[in-house]
Amino acid sequence: MARQLRRGETESALAKRRRARVIDRLLAAAHPDAECELDYADPLQLAVATILSAQCTDVRVNLTTPALFAKYRTAEDYAAANPEEVEAIVRPTGFYRNKTKSIIGLGKALVEHHDGKVPQSMEALVKLPGIGRKTANVILGNAFGLPGIPVDTHMIRLTNRLGLTEGKDPVKLEFQLQELIDEREWTMFSHRIIFHGRRVCIARKPACGACTLAAHCPSFGEGPTDPEEAAKLLRGSNVDELVKLAAAARGDTDEDGTAERREATS
Ligand code: SF4
Repeated sequence: MARQLRRGETESALAKRRRARVIDRLLAAAHPDAECELDYADPLQLAVATILSAQCTDVRVNLTTPALFAKYRTAEDYAAANPEEVEAIVRPTGFYRNKTKSIIGLGKALVEHHDGKVPQSMEALVKLPGIGRKTANVILGNAFGLPGIPVDTHMIRLTNRLGLTEGKDPVKLEFQLQELIDEREWTMFSHRIIFHGRRVCIARKPACGACTLAAHCPSFGEGPTDPEEAAKLLRGSNVDELVKLAAAARGDTDEDGTAERREATS
């Protein structure tokens, strides 16, 4: 097992970059299914779904968008939409009046300035209604395959805990992370971090004792460190695999790959 990183431990820029790469590799093994969880078929649908996802779960957005996407297929359709009809559909996602304004405004701006198409640059995207850097990075990374690191409250919480970033300013954090992670990994790193936050590093009580990143995390100990107690906190479809990976990281794995808790020696 790697030496436990301690909170407040001094770390050179190079050591932090190396640690970030190790963390990304471990996350890739722990969450191979990490991906954008919003349903979409083209850049416009992803832009609309991402606007609707503010303060709302992806699951709820995915329940709402089929009716919306069936009725409004192009930027022209959104530009000409009746606000009350859009509001009635997007209401379950919350903040529906503002979201409707953004979606219709987006349609109008795309028709007026981009021939009805979603542009492929950060500079152009952030000028569109309802689209900030986070949404722009989601669109660039997932709809166009251009690397981006969307920073939201979950990304801030996780990367602060991991000691990869400092502060809460999303733009500053985006640039801090760009320095640490290889550009080709930006989009997938973001998905992996989000999955890790949902399944292991849960906001209120992180499952530290069942976390494959334990040795590389200065916040190890914020949640239970006992493997069995921590394992009960894990969520998602691959809990058994997460337990095995964490045991392997601790050096507790049997030859046949079975995770068994080693008796504490101290
Ligand atoms: S679960 Fe614990 S050890 Fe793992 S990343 Fe979160 S705070 Fe760090």
